[in-house]
Amino acid sequence: MFGTSGIRGIYGKEVNEELAVKIGNIFPKETVVVARDIRKSGKTLSMALISGILSKGYDVIDIGIATTPTLALASKNMNCDGIMITASHNPPEYNGLKFFFKGGEIPKERELEIAEKYKNEDIAFCSWNKIGKIQKYEDAVLDHIKLIKKMIDIDLIKKKNPKVVLDCNGPASLIAPKLMEEIGCKVIPINTSIEKFERASEPNKKNLSGLLKKVIETGADFGIGYDGDADRAIVVDETGCILPFDVQLALIIENEIAGLAGEKKVVTTIEASLIVKEAIEKNNAEYAITPVGSIFVSKEMKKDNGIFGGEPCGEYIFKNGVSSPDGILTGAKFAEIFCRCGKFSKLIKKYAQHPIVREKFECENSKKYEVVEKIKGKINIEGEKRVDDGIRIDQKDGWFLIRASGTEPYIRLTMEYKDDKKLYEMHRCIFELIKSNI
Ligand code: MG
Repeated sequence: MFGTSGIRGIYGKEVNEELAVKIGNIFPKETVVVARDIRKSGKTLSMALISGILSKGYDVIDIGIATTPTLALASKNMNCDGIMITASHNPPEYNGLKFFFKGGEIPKERELEIAEKYKNEDIAFCSWNKIGKIQKYEDAVLDHIKLIKKMIDIDLIKKKNPKVVLDCNGPASLIAPKLMEEIGCKVIPINTSIEKFERASEPNKKNLSGLLKKVIETGADFGIGYDGDADRAIVVDETGCILPFDVQLALIIENEIAGLAGEKKVVTTIEASLIVKEAIEKNNAEYAITPVGSIFVSKEMKKDNGIFGGEPCGEYIFKNGVSSPDGILTGAKFAEIFCRCGKFSKLIKKYAQHPIVREKFECENSKKYEVVEKIKGKINIEGEKRVDDGIRIDQKDGWFLIRASGTEPYIRLTMEYKDDKKLYEMHRCIFELIKSNI
């Protein structure tokens, strides 16, 4: 029942109030802070979830509509568990539950424990006089803003006073415009409804077309687009182009580690491109690679006191922030990078981009892992192999990765080679291999 990001599915089918009330009863070991994104199904799911928690005898801190990082921080500040009701970037018919524990995502072992109890219908009600209470935490957003302000060079941003378009489209509306203004930006917010998503939630070129246009129209210095729960932020340069995801990651890595003395470690995932590796090596940092998913990135960061952890999709974890991705902080960090380094359209030219292919193949959820296993057994290509999340093979002049999507019915292929011809040849061979096994 768990994917790379908690429980997620179509409302009414895989995710409904019955599931929410049961999970609410099964999950808690202490007080739980609960929040939701703006999905229509969020309200009733939240009511069911909260009932479940109270019925077990635990208290709930209900912060209502909020971003995922605001919820994560609330669980850290309140020193308790947390559940975010969200399906992140999925379409509005989806919803889901994401579980936190003192600021970070719960470990895989606890997910297994929940899944096991759910399967066995291990539900227990407290006695009538032990039913939990609902508490409020009015300052959740303000505390999130306070934390971010401590991590940003506000004087620098105030001096430059950059003009920025924020495409909120979800709970980011409740925090991003206020924060960005307070740190010294001229803010032009768009898609600020908290009644419904005004564009599709996945922050890609098609869905961010309104943002791209607005940046050009208003002569803004840059734009930020958030995903449906704002743990991710995507940057648009002043010419209305989305920064390539791996360049955006390389930029923020350099911002976090440049000039730091001593040992420094950066964590990224098996999806990381050559640009990211080069940026880390150039700054004399060490890096660790994990399977896809912020839960693995965060765990690895904690293990070795990592400075920064990031995935190419735009999910970044900062050492002194919450222990899970924070798109709101990411937006503020890019304001800082702009003010320190200048226009993004110029900055990205520093990074030599190699030809890359990102492709997805439809494959049912129930089959996708099996298909990837089958492909693993058939691949006979030389190189450094990693098989802890799909299969990645690194060769002298490039690499490729085949893995089952953690949240959607796809098998994903990523390939990057320094040479177009080699990419073309490798792609032909791998494409056939995937197609013939689905
Ligand atoms: Mg998200």
